[in-house]
Amino acid sequence: MRRVIMLLLDGGGDRPSGGGPTPLYAAHKPNLDRLAAAGSCGILDPIAPGIRPGSDTAHLSIFGYDPYRYYTGRGAFEALGAGIELRPGDVAFRTNLATVDENNVVVDRRAGRHVSPEEASEVERLVNEVIAPTVMGKLGVEVVYKSTVEHRGVLVMRGPVSHRVSNTDPHKVGEPILEARPLDGSREGNITAEALNMVTRLFSERARELGINAARREKGLPPINAILARGGGYMPSIEPITRRYGVRAAAIAGVALIRGVARAVGMDVYTAPGLNGTASDEYAHALRLAMDLLAGYDLIFLHVKGTDSAGHDGNYDLKRTVVERLDRALSEYMDRLEGMYVMVTSDHATPVSVREHTGDPVPILVYGPDVVRDEVDRFSELTCWRGALMRIRGMDIMPIASSYLGLSEKFGE
Ligand code: ZN
Ligand code: ZN
Repeated sequence: MRRVIMLLLDGGGDRPSGGGPTPLYAAHKPNLDRLAAAGSCGILDPIAPGIRPGSDTAHLSIFGYDPYRYYTGRGAFEALGAGIELRPGDVAFRTNLATVDENNVVVDRRAGRHVSPEEASEVERLVNEVIAPTVMGKLGVEVVYKSTVEHRGVLVMRGPVSHRVSNTDPHKVGEPILEARPLDGSREGNITAEALNMVTRLFSERARELGINAARREKGLPPINAILARGGGYMPSIEPITRRYGVRAAAIAGVALIRGVARAVGMDVYTAPGLNGTASDEYAHALRLAMDLLAGYDLIFLHVKGTDSAGHDGNYDLKRTVVERLDRALSEYMDRLEGMYVMVTSDHATPVSVREHTGDPVPILVYGPDVVRDEVDRFSELTCWRGALMRIRGMDIMPIASSYLGLSEKFGE
């Protein structure tokens, strides 16, 4: 039974600031180092050398899909991650519930960062049951809103629509809500901008009547009276990973965007207790689930977000600790990994000195029964470049996995 487990340390790569060791190098991680010592290491350009990836584009690439062809804005992946069914051609925006004054000037882009699940479902009802029918009647565009976390949500449009419209979110307080404009001359662009402006306007008008706002006033919370949209993207038509690479794949991830990218390429998506997409995540349940899922899949992908969060916070010790926590959770399964393939890498570097994604290459290791054992015995940016994999790209990972699994098709005769 050939199987691949892929562990992805989001933003796990780093830079040797001031010549010191990177968090990955410094981390006490005997299990990851054992896998590195027994297998092949190398470095990976998640997209291409020097390209500074978003997590979404890098994941597409690592799942074997050219992001320059399939990436159409974050909205569609975010909506998929929120559990909305999308059809090719649907357009999705990321949204914030916000507070505006009587002149439509944004006072708080996140409505006090406090939106309870009950408030969120009342907003869903307002958009889906009151506003959406009006937009459908006037423009023939179907509108669906779904709240995700706190003030965040996604707005999906279906019909004669295009993602080529500008944001309504001004991204700053003290500025008015923007009018959506078509970014090209297309009829669909015009209709979409009109639909988005209609949702925005009707929302501000109707939100005043929402019962939740009276209650919020009493609690001293700013009212929820605006919806701000950004990052429109359309759902591309994507050949599922099972067909393209012959691989039955499942993803375990707590981050909506990553869940969305995995769903977009046809992976089955799972969550695990303790895996919430934060730096304090615990990986024991997620790893157990990964082991259980091996019975029904060829490849299990496990997303570790904490390294990226710590990188954005500029927190060296925390980034090292996240790696150590994963490694400790891994120790219980080292015996079971024998005879399986394990790949460990990152979707990009988020160096603690930069606090943002950079275009640096990241380390990768491939461990497995018939993988060449090279001389690298420590998994890190400072060591893996000497390994047998040398330097590869994100798009190379799935063909390599599929080949070890014995599932790839021969090219030529
Ligand atoms: Zn990332
Ligand atoms: Zn990040």
